[in-house]
Amino acid sequence: MKSDLYKYKLHIIIVIIYVLFILGGCSDQKVGIKLEAESGVIDLSQVQLENDVVSLDGQWEFFWNQLLSPSEVETGDLTDYIQIPSSWNKQMGDEKHSGYGYATYRLQFISMEDIRLALKIPRIFTAYELWVNGDLIATAGKVGETRETMTPQYLPQVALFESHQGTNEILIKVSNSYHRSGGILESIKLGSEKQILRLRYESLARDLILFGSLMSIGAYHLALFFFRKKNASSLYFGFFCLLVGIRTLLGGERFFTYLFPDFSWEIAHKLQTLTFYIGVPLILMFFMSVYPKYFHAGIIKIAQIMGAAFGLLVFLTPARIFTSFNPIYQIWTMFTILYVLVVLIKLSTYKEKGSWLITLGALAILFSSANDIIFLSIWMNDDGPAFLKALIRTGNLSSVGQFIFAFTNSLLLAKSFSDSLEQEEVLSAKLTEINSNLDGLVLQRTMELEKSNEKIEQQKHELEKTNRALEQLSLRDSLTGLWNRRKYDQTIEIEWRRCLRYKKPIALLLMDIDYFKQLNDSYGHIAGDKCLIKIGEMLNNSLCRSSDMVARYGGEEFIVLLPDSEKEDALIVAERLRLKMESMNIPHEKSSVSDYVTVSIGVTSKIPDINSTFEDLLHVADKALYQAKNAGRNQIKFLSE
Ligand code: GH3
Ligand code: MG
Ligand code: MG
Repeated sequence: MKSDLYKYKLHIIIVIIYVLFILGGCSDQKVGIKLEAESGVIDLSQVQLENDVVSLDGQWEFFWNQLLSPSEVETGDLTDYIQIPSSWNKQMGDEKHSGYGYATYRLQFISMEDIRLALKIPRIFTAYELWVNGDLIATAGKVGETRETMTPQYLPQVALFESHQGTNEILIKVSNSYHRSGGILESIKLGSEKQILRLRYESLARDLILFGSLMSIGAYHLALFFFRKKNASSLYFGFFCLLVGIRTLLGGERFFTYLFPDFSWEIAHKLQTLTFYIGVPLILMFFMSVYPKYFHAGIIKIAQIMGAAFGLLVFLTPARIFTSFNPIYQIWTMFTILYVLVVLIKLSTYKEKGSWLITLGALAILFSSANDIIFLSIWMNDDGPAFLKALIRTGNLSSVGQFIFAFTNSLLLAKSFSDSLEQEEVLSAKLTEINSNLDGLVLQRTMELEKSNEKIEQQKHELEKTNRALEQLSLRDSLTGLWNRRKYDQTIEIEWRRCLRYKKPIALLLMDIDYFKQLNDSYGHIAGDKCLIKIGEMLNNSLCRSSDMVARYGGEEFIVLLPDSEKEDALIVAERLRLKMESMNIPHEKSSVSDYVTVSIGVTSKIPDINSTFEDLLHVADKALYQAKNAGRNQIKFLSE
């Protein structure tokens, strides 16, 4: 895991170095020969101009406050020799070192052959005419002695001319009433047409690649913000990239001037400066939004106020005024660069996520910006320390640095995107697993529930069975096992209604053991019980129809219910029972009707009608029984009502 991370970091660093290499390769750093002009002459006789590019640095002849054409220069008043590249501020500018004024520069170079050559002319502050061997070959803006008569323009360009063997003359008229610094601030390069054009194209290509990349990275981040407003860092970063992109076209090879040649120098300058002034608070806000814990809100506030104040200054004043305040902002920027550096070091020690990438990008932007600021300030003021001058040879690094910064941030974004996607995948896999487990769990639970339901159902069944048994028990007479009076009450009600509906007769036999008290008295209660049990058995076995029922009505009384039975049927059944009773031969010595136990039976039968009830029926049977007892016992009496 750890080695993977190292590998990944290594890859990114390699990519960045590669980008640096390509972009750096295009920069005009690799100018081969180092020669210095002395007293206005540079000897190129030893140089193969076919293949080499020479920076025409060193001492040029300098005619201050004179705009001389080639024919006039010999009679001109040579002020001094001036070191190129540098502004004329310190040497010649007015007391305030404002850099305003005009002058003619002249350099003679000695060539060994007749050859077609090219000059790569940087921007010159702020208008020029360039003559070679008496021919005007390049201009930018309009040279004039006063602010009214001159027009400023930054126009880096390539100019072609034929050089001839011996001494050749380069003459440049420069005027400046617009910028804080005046003169030739960057090297003029000389070489073959092919080499110089190559430099030019490479620089242009670099600018355009940077411009395109920064614009698309910027637009992409703005789109990100558009779709996810929570992400303020995308907004700041997107704007920052757009700003730097615009700045790239306005600086370097100044492709913008080619696109819009008549665009006001003043406004272009304002735009370029604004990108710088707004860029500083913007990038601080970006850092703040990414690592809010580490950046001080107060400093961000100050940066915003500074940016707004200086931006307003740019808006409201012309370049000659706002450029003179620029050093203050440069010092402020250097301070913020230091501040961010310190915070980044702190960040790296805390090992915040992705901090090394941001640190890498930030280092690129911080150092390149610092480089450019130092470059600009020392060249424009010309009082910088010599070692810095030796160290810092170009003022055009920051756009590369800013691009690296944009690139590392995009990488970080891509990484955090893929990280969160991966996390989402892991989460959804987990969720799926949980879901599938859930299915299993639900299935298991359902099965368990079904099982317990089954069990409950079974228990319910058993309970019902028990209940039924209990109910049966409650309807049975415990001694004889016959139905009891409750059961009789239930049954008679049902049968009565049935017979009422179908107009069928219903018969009732009420049976009472004769002299049972005496039986108890003579044989004892247990014998009496045994007698009751035996009679019960007999009665239970003596009924033929399933609808017939016999119940112990009380004490030694039994009741027989015979649905669908008329008087005759009832009497037959009653007689059969009486005879069976007799034939059981249960001894009863105290009985006055027999030596054995006998019964008397009251019988009744009737087709139910709505005017009578089953209680009436019982009442009639009871009456019949009473008559049977009175008539001498061991006999049957019938009463219809
Ligand atoms: P009668 O011929 O007029 O019916 O005379 P009886 O003695 O049979 O009538 P009585 O109503 O005077 O007596 C009923 C007796 O039945 C009284 C009671 O001791 C006895 N007896 C009632 N239930 C039981 C029982 O469950 N077991 C026993 N052993 N005796 C019972
Ligand atoms: Mg009785
Ligand atoms: Mg009795």
